[in-house]
Amino acid sequence: MLHVGINGFGTIGKRVADAVRAQPDMTVAGVSKRTPNFEATIAHDRGYDLYAAGEDGRAPFDTAGLHTEGTVHDLVAASDVVVDTTPGGIGAKNADLYADYDTPAIFQGGEDPDVAEMSFNARANYESALNADTARVVSCNTTGLSRLFAPLRERYGIEKARVTLVRRGGDPGQTSRGPINDTLPDPVEIPSHHGPDVQTVFPDIDVDTMGMKVPTTQMHTHSVNVTLESTPSATAVRELLTAESRLFLIPETLGIDGAGKLKEYTRDAGRPRGDVWENCIWAESVTVEDNDLYLFQAIHQEADVVPENIDAVRALSGRTPDAARSISRTDEALGIGR
Ligand code: NAD
Repeated sequence: MLHVGINGFGTIGKRVADAVRAQPDMTVAGVSKRTPNFEATIAHDRGYDLYAAGEDGRAPFDTAGLHTEGTVHDLVAASDVVVDTTPGGIGAKNADLYADYDTPAIFQGGEDPDVAEMSFNARANYESALNADTARVVSCNTTGLSRLFAPLRERYGIEKARVTLVRRGGDPGQTSRGPINDTLPDPVEIPSHHGPDVQTVFPDIDVDTMGMKVPTTQMHTHSVNVTLESTPSATAVRELLTAESRLFLIPETLGIDGAGKLKEYTRDAGRPRGDVWENCIWAESVTVEDNDLYLFQAIHQEADVVPENIDAVRALSGRTPDAARSISRTDEALGIGR
């Protein structure tokens, strides 16, 4: 059993903890929180050992009546692998802590790429992370694009990709974010940072990206154009993408016209928190004109990186050398593709 510590029990951390718990070969060593807020009480209620990560140590938790097992140092010492899910920029500050305890660490997409030895996406480069000390699971948007580009690049070759990312203004719990009544070019600079981030996974893919922000908390939506090095039919592309376990081609018959219905669908299906772990590609949007492929996909920012973190844990541990085996184990345990 791999003992996995989760440092930062927020939007991503709580999902990663539940996903670790669902795996047959992993257990949650504990989770750490800086403040004893509602997420700390949820961690406690779910039976996760709680560790204090704030400057005031365990005292605020004692005051709130929440038992802690120790501090984040004790958690790192007790873990075979740590998943750092603290807010962007904090992970880099924690890097020395993990190195001091010689505990392999996984960082998130809010960190700069140089926080870790490599930028990770299970479908693209699992094997490069085997036995690494550190890896960075790329952001939700980069994960969504990497999963899509990997099979297209292998089968058809990619001459050039152009993507417009229509991004959610904030997560449901991020009450300070927006916009609430506007459509923003964000960032205004072109290309946006997403293209270079994809190149940390695929240095050989020529990709330009433009970002926007809109008033929704549901999901991101990507408008994708990939110029391929060959000219497949749209049907062949649909078949290729359908065979990928973390790509869901939304059939026209479901009548799903946007992220709202997608989330409703996964909530109705009984998924935890209504999470959508897969890229959701509108099947009718898959169009090929000469060697240009076009499609729309929706990405659930709170969820798609979760299975990737599980695979990254296996890769860093070195215990599962085969990417396909790790991916299918993760998918089976979470119910991905069902
Ligand atoms: P979050 O704010 O929801 O959660 C972070 C948690 O870490 C909170 O519980 C916070 O109390 C805790 N924390 C803060 N400082 C800490 C510290 N010093 N030590 C331990 N815990 C601390 O953030 P999030 O949305 O889960 O993002 C985490 C990382 O995942 C970021 O790098 C982010 O860029 C990345 N990410 C986020 C999303 C998303 O849409 N939310 C998607 C993909 C990747």
